[in-house]
Amino acid sequence: MARRLLIAGNWKLHKTVEEAVALAGDIAAGLGRDDLDVLVIPGFLALEPVALSLSASPVLVGGQNLYWEDLGAFTGETSGPQLKAAGARYVLVGHSERRQYFGETEATCRLRLAAALRAGLKPILCVGETQAQREGGQTEGVLESQLAGALAGFSPEQGAGITLAYEPVWAIGTGLTASESQANEAHAHIRAWLGARFDKDVANTTRILYGGSVKPANAAGLLNQPEVDGALIGGASLSAESFLGIIRAA
Ligand code: PEP
Repeated sequence: MARRLLIAGNWKLHKTVEEAVALAGDIAAGLGRDDLDVLVIPGFLALEPVALSLSASPVLVGGQNLYWEDLGAFTGETSGPQLKAAGARYVLVGHSERRQYFGETEATCRLRLAAALRAGLKPILCVGETQAQREGGQTEGVLESQLAGALAGFSPEQGAGITLAYEPVWAIGTGLTASESQANEAHAHIRAWLGARFDKDVANTTRILYGGSVKPANAAGLLNQPEVDGALIGGASLSAESFLGIIRAA
């Protein structure tokens, strides 16, 4: 079934507010197509200024993380309702850098997914194996346990509100990219898992993005795979030229 592509740029810990607004403006100005969804994911400080600057544009804005409580004495955290009010439509959950450096687990991913859905945000759950796990033949098992843990107890309706991103850890920021067939196979496995865990509709409609060193030169091949419904892009989303190059290739 045809799923609309989603091209998302994760700006991580890059760009001042001024730089972020300028980059968002360049992306919006150069977009030139409306047959796919485009999402930018700035740091929290820049999120509202970027969202305001894009209010007349189809480019959507998302957060890089959220806390699982909606409000309270949780110094330094950012909630789903705050993100929503600032103009976010999407939010990343469980990016491998959160797992690697900030103690993210399946259990905390699950809490964050529930908080995002409660706030009316569309969460993008990131899953993926390390190099050692791939070499050890554990890729499918790792994906299954990440999905099962993060989605535990969710209904098909909740499942239908979640976008997935397959991001092999060994391909993030390394210049290494999963081959087109490796990406397609992993996505097909995730989709089959969704069908068994939820139902056929959820499996058929869920967008599964690929992430890991996507750039203009490899985007077309990856995005042409039948199971690949978009891309989550780090490094190559930091300049309008390369991000728009990926969008043009899609
Ligand atoms: C990411 O951060 O999600 C990512 C895929 O980064 P990069 O494109 O730089 O590999």
